[in-house]
Amino acid sequence: MATLDGSASPSSPAPGRGVFCNRTLNLRSVRAIGYDMDYTLVDYRVAAFEQMVYAQARERLASEGWPVGSLAFDPRMVTRGLVIDTELGNLVKANRFGFVKRAMHGTRMLEFAEQRDAYGQTLVDLSDSRWVFLNTLFSLSEGCLFAQAVDLMDQGALPRAFEYASLYRHVRARVDAQHLEGHLKAEIAAAPDRYVVQDPEAALALLDQKAAGKKLLLITNSEWSFTAKMMAHAYDRHLPEGMTWRQLFDLVIVAARKPAFFLERGPFFEVVDEAGLLRPLAGPLRPGGLYLGGCAAQVERDLGISGDEILYVGDHMFGDVHVSKRTLSWRTALVLRELEAEVAALEAFRATELRLMALMREKEILEARLSRARLALQRLHAGYGPQESGHAPDLEARVHDLRGELVALDAEIAPLAKAGTELTNTRWGLLTRAGNDKSHLTRQIERYADIYTSRVSNFLHATPFAYFRSPRGNLPHDPGAASSL
Ligand code: IMP
Ligand code: MG
Repeated sequence: MATLDGSASPSSPAPGRGVFCNRTLNLRSVRAIGYDMDYTLVDYRVAAFEQMVYAQARERLASEGWPVGSLAFDPRMVTRGLVIDTELGNLVKANRFGFVKRAMHGTRMLEFAEQRDAYGQTLVDLSDSRWVFLNTLFSLSEGCLFAQAVDLMDQGALPRAFEYASLYRHVRARVDAQHLEGHLKAEIAAAPDRYVVQDPEAALALLDQKAAGKKLLLITNSEWSFTAKMMAHAYDRHLPEGMTWRQLFDLVIVAARKPAFFLERGPFFEVVDEAGLLRPLAGPLRPGGLYLGGCAAQVERDLGISGDEILYVGDHMFGDVHVSKRTLSWRTALVLRELEAEVAALEAFRATELRLMALMREKEILEARLSRARLALQRLHAGYGPQESGHAPDLEARVHDLRGELVALDAEIAPLAKAGTELTNTRWGLLTRAGNDKSHLTRQIERYADIYTSRVSNFLHATPFAYFRSPRGNLPHDPGAASSL
C-alpha cells in the first residue's frame, strides 16, 4: 500500500540489502546501466550449481585414473576472496596488505607456527601468477577440488607426478571444460527451477530504471542459447503481460569474453535468429540489437556515452569490476550475494562485539600501566631519568599483579575473539574481514567497486534517482578513535 511520503512500502530493506557506497555515485547522472547475467541478473543456488560442476569435473578425473570416487563437494570448504597459492598447494586468506592471516594445506588448516614459517616473509601479490584469486561463486568447486587433489598428491595417490602448480592447472582445466562443454548448461536449462533463485523485485527494479530513461545493457560471457533460457526463466513471469526480458534491454551482448571485452577491440557479430546464427556486424550497434563478442570501446562510441556515464553491475571481482574501472573508468557495482549472511552474522554478534571492545579497552589500559611500571623499575635499577616514588619491591609487585590481571583478561577475551573470527564460516570467517582488519577482497572492493550490494533487486529500494554518498571513513588519529593512553 502506498504511503503519504510516496514509498510503496513503509518498511525499509533489511540491513544486509542496502546499497553500500565506497565512492559517491549519483544515479541521476548515469545514462546507461550495463548488467552481467550469471550471479548478477540471474541468481543461482550456489551449492546445487557448484556441486554439479564439481561432480562432472570429478568424473572426468576418475576417467583419467584418479582415485576421486569417495570425494564430495563441500560448499563451505572455500569462500570467495580466498587465494590459491599454486606454489605450496595452499589456500590462504590475506588481509588488505597481503599478509596471510589463515592458511590451509590441502584440506588441513595450518597451525599458527606453520603458517608463520610459510608466509612470514611472503606477501600475497595478485599480479604474480603464483596466486589465484577466487573471484566469484563459480570458483568454489575449483577451490574445493584443488584442496582435495593436494591431499591425494601428498599421499602419492595420483597416477602421475605433479608439482602443486601443474596440479592446479590440471584441475582448473577440468573445471573449465565443464563450463565450456554443453552438458552443464543443458542440465541447468532442463531443470532451471533447481538452480535458479527467483527474485520478482529484480524485474521491477529494471523497469524503474528503464522508465527513468536509463539505457539498459546486458553484457554476459554466457552463450546466446543459455542466456535466452535463463533470462526468460528469471524475468518473463515478473514482467507486465506480453512483455519479455528482451524489451528491457537496449543492447544484449552475449559471449562477451570479459575481461578481454573491456581491454581489447574484438569484432561484434549480430545474432540473427533464435538458433544463434551469426553475421559480422556492419555499421554501428543498433538499439534493441542482439550481439556476440565485441568490445566496450564500440559500445561507448555507438551509444555516445562515455566512461563515467555508464554503471556496470557484476559479480566477478576482476572480470566485471576491476577491469571496467581500471581501463575505462566506468562506474562500477559489485554484486556480493554473501553480504546478506555476513551482515546478519555481524548483527547477531553485535552484543558480544561490544563486550569484546570493552574488554580490549580494559586490556589496553592494563598494558599501558604495565609498561609504565616496567619503565619506572628500569630507571630505578639503572639510576637515570625521573624516578617514581616507591621502592623496587613495590614496583615489582605492581608489575606482577598487572601481569596476573592481563592473563585473566586474556582468558576472557580469547573465546570471544575466536567466535568473532569464525562468523559465517568456522574455517575462514567473514569474507570482508581478516582478523581485526579488512580482507584482501574488501581492499579490492574499496579500490574498484564504487558501490556494492547483495543483489540487483536492492536497487528497487534505492530508486533510479538515488544519490549514494560514501561515508567519511575513520582514521586512526580521528578524535575518539585512538586510545588516549
Ligand atoms: P557472466 O557472469 O554472465 O559474464 O557469465 C559467466 C559465464 O562464464 C557463465 O556462462 C559461466 O558458465 C562461465 N564460467 C564461469 N566460470 C568459468 C570457468 O572457470 N571457465 C569457463 N567459463 C566459466
Ligand atoms: Mg557473473
